[in-house]
Amino acid sequence: MKQGIHPDYKKVVVKCACGNTFETGSVKDEIKVEVCSECHPFYTGKQKFVGQGGRVEKFKQKYGMK
Ligand SMILES: [Zn+2]
Repeated sequence: MKQGIHPDYKKVVVKCACGNTFETGSVKDEIKVEVCSECHPFYTGKQKFVGQGGRVEKFKQKYGMK
């Protein structure tokens, strides 16, 4: 194996907006993504983020919880 041909390819932690982290290989030091395989509806089969916050807020208002 010759040195110096490839960039400094190393393991990097990818941080997702959902809080999930996973490792991948990259020349970057850090990667941030909006969706990952753990939270993307295409992979999970659920749309757990869509409208969830709004429903909770309405629930709290309905029952007078702050
Ligand atoms: Zn995610």
